[in-house]
Amino acid sequence: MSAFWTEPDFDDHELVQLVRDEQSGLTALIALHSTHCGPGAGGTRFWHYAEPKAAIRDVLRLSRGMSYKNAMAGLPVGGGKAVILADEQRTKTPEMLAAFGDAVEALGGRYVTAEDVGISEKDMVAVAERTQYVSGLPTTDDDEAGGDPGPFTAMGIYHGIKAAVEHKLGKDSLSGVHVAIQGVGSVGGGVARLLAQDGAKLTLSDIDQRRAQDLAQQLGAKTVAPESIMSVSCDVFSPNALGAILDDDGIARLDCAIVAGGANNQLAREAHGKLLSDRDILYAPDYVINAGGIISVTLEYLCRQHSENCDINEVRRRIAQIPGRLKEIWQESEESGVPSHAVANAMAQKLIGRGA
Ligand code: NAD
Repeated sequence: MSAFWTEPDFDDHELVQLVRDEQSGLTALIALHSTHCGPGAGGTRFWHYAEPKAAIRDVLRLSRGMSYKNAMAGLPVGGGKAVILADEQRTKTPEMLAAFGDAVEALGGRYVTAEDVGISEKDMVAVAERTQYVSGLPTTDDDEAGGDPGPFTAMGIYHGIKAAVEHKLGKDSLSGVHVAIQGVGSVGGGVARLLAQDGAKLTLSDIDQRRAQDLAQQLGAKTVAPESIMSVSCDVFSPNALGAILDDDGIARLDCAIVAGGANNQLAREAHGKLLSDRDILYAPDYVINAGGIISVTLEYLCRQHSENCDINEVRRRIAQIPGRLKEIWQESEESGVPSHAVANAMAQKLIGRGA
């Protein structure tokens, strides 16, 4: 492996491990950024990288992101991530997943894995046959935590949007508040349904235009073409599709008071957080507002480790704390003049025992 500790994304990660299994052809990287708050938790990505360096960067950046996200969600876990380096055909075999499970098990619980891009629920069930250190496994009981994280993520975003509307617009109701939603999949669709129940005015958009239109019909919402959603004149723009959409061009097009949505890594670069604040747009840091899913899967994991059933009300209680954390960030941002994303990063660093 090249000298990963000289990479710009290296941030005193506690462990970066190369996993090679000749028999199955597995090549994977596991990174633990911080275990200050508990075992490093974060999903496994299965991806074809053009060069190994790109995989190293991804695992370093994503594991740090998990430290921040888990800490800000108040969870007793740290930050970790794994990437499995796929070939161009993305060949995935049971033997590879078994070898990966063995590598996770060998870390003795320092790393807890889960699903991520390119890994299905079925794949994770296969990994779980070799290791107990897996979160987010399917559940059969709707009254238990765990299972599909999408609805829990949507619930947290809904609470976060309500808090943002109260903070920025001084309104304690969403009735008539106009929200433009980019992406109406698992997360965005759930957010739209919850907002519609409160009488919000919705404009929806998805590259799957049929999906957007069907949902709009059910909810009495409007739709626009994907290329127009960021310039809709609205109160809240809620990105729930892609990352890096808040770049120079995207921010220049925004005609809203608030950006609050579930997509990961919304800011193309750190500087774009400042650009939003210069435009007087209230920004809900993505990893704070979209933590509902991780709260659910982590609590399910921790309960399973203690052979207990996990009460869904505890999950809901913790998700309901997301607005409090956001308000704390916005208040500090206003008092200090530091943009909200930077305030959140500093808070997260403090929680994991780093930073000034
Ligand atoms: P999903 O695949 O269910 O939905 C994404 C939707 O976005 C799809 O309907 C897709 O057609 C649409 N889309 C893609 N490109 C688009 C574009 N350019 N314009 C408009 N729509 C577009 O995924 P999801 O689980 O809903 O996740 C959405 C985002 O939230 C992702 O960034 C994901 O990383 C993030 N996230 C998800 C969770 C979760 O619990 N699922 C948790 C945290 C963060």
